[in-house]
Amino acid sequence: MVIDGNPNAGSITETFSLEYLRMYYGKLFPYTDMFQWMSYGNDGKHPGCDLSFFGRREFSFTLDNDIYLRFQSFSNLAEMENSIKEKCPFKIDIGPVYSVDPAKRHAYSQGGNSVFAPVERELVFDIDITDYDDVRYCCSGADVCLNCWPLMTAAIKVMDVSLRDDFGFNHILWVYSGRRGIHCWVCDGRARRLTNEQRTAVANYFHVYKGGENSLKKISFTGAALHPFLTRSYTDVLRVIFEEKLLCSQDLFASEERYQKILELIPDETLVTELHEKWSGNKRSTTLNNDRWDHLKHTLQSGKQKVQGLRRCVEEIVFSYTYPRLDMEVSKSMNHLLKAPFCVHPKTGRVCIPIDPNNCDDFDPTSVPSLSELLEELNAAGLKAEFENVSEIEKTSLGKSIKFFRSSFLHPLLKSCKEELERSHNAKLQQSKNSLNW
Ligand SMILES: [Zn+2]
Repeated sequence: MVIDGNPNAGSITETFSLEYLRMYYGKLFPYTDMFQWMSYGNDGKHPGCDLSFFGRREFSFTLDNDIYLRFQSFSNLAEMENSIKEKCPFKIDIGPVYSVDPAKRHAYSQGGNSVFAPVERELVFDIDITDYDDVRYCCSGADVCLNCWPLMTAAIKVMDVSLRDDFGFNHILWVYSGRRGIHCWVCDGRARRLTNEQRTAVANYFHVYKGGENSLKKISFTGAALHPFLTRSYTDVLRVIFEEKLLCSQDLFASEERYQKILELIPDETLVTELHEKWSGNKRSTTLNNDRWDHLKHTLQSGKQKVQGLRRCVEEIVFSYTYPRLDMEVSKSMNHLLKAPFCVHPKTGRVCIPIDPNNCDDFDPTSVPSLSELLEELNAAGLKAEFENVSEIEKTSLGKSIKFFRSSFLHPLLKSCKEELERSHNAKLQQSKNSLNW
């Protein structure tokens, strides 16, 4: 079997094209999984479910030649699937669930009635590696490689643990954005119903790195002790990633220009001069980065330096180079759109696949399935008998991602949605029973 409409099956060379995308939406995009996720149990199977729920969700499409369609909505799975297949969007964004069907918002707003408002939305986080350009030397802009990707791994580890342990959330999905960063979707009912003020408070909890300001120092720890969240992040994640990965992979101390940037974070001129003098005479060696870092730590942490202002300096340096840098605006308000998982990034042709936070060290953005590879795999699988009773997606390397999405995220989520529906339905039944008794 050969992919329909592909005249050169077997010689797929481009990274991305409208034609490939059409085939992807035709054969691989996981419509049912996306519909089940976005329905949160409101799919008609439970007497307590809200049948209007999915239809009040905003989707937005970015089409070929940058035409942007906001406030798309679908009353069911088939409608969503048909619309995506027909319009073939380069990008699908997911917005909030509104009080009324967003496609009919104008009808509801007539007569000055403003009933159209967001009522639910996943708590989302967006972390973009371009925001780390001052601390990575291997790539810049939208490029990523295995030397700088640990910065994203650090962000996943720090935030995932905190969202679960500090906030008690369970249904968390991490997704590769297809090019230069990661997205996080927190989908517990409690998270979806947070107000904008509460979202801002959660985002501020994580807002340690104050980038974009004039002061050289973006992170400053004062007070006797670090917040337990910061101590845990430092000990379990950031220090390890800094010392075992970034220190050498980014050659952080290899040139005067680079170590000067670190020395600028030390607010003691005498010490800075001492370190600078020592290093400027040094010849290049294979352990240069480690030697200089050890030297810096020793100098800052030796007995006589344990004074206020310097005691946290080593931690401040590590945080400055590794702590997650959030795009705060994305998390603060319900209205913010975020790209849907399983979209394909038009620049890289790579699919926005989920990342397993428990194995995120193994995630390699440079080997994420691309559109052309997937179509090659489909072509190849079509010729093999063993794939006869296997779904299209499972014939490709995307199969692993969809299995992970279902087992680790979707199925546990739907189970808890069902329980929540059950509880509120029973409570309503009980309430009406009680009122009848009166
Ligand atoms: Zn890089």
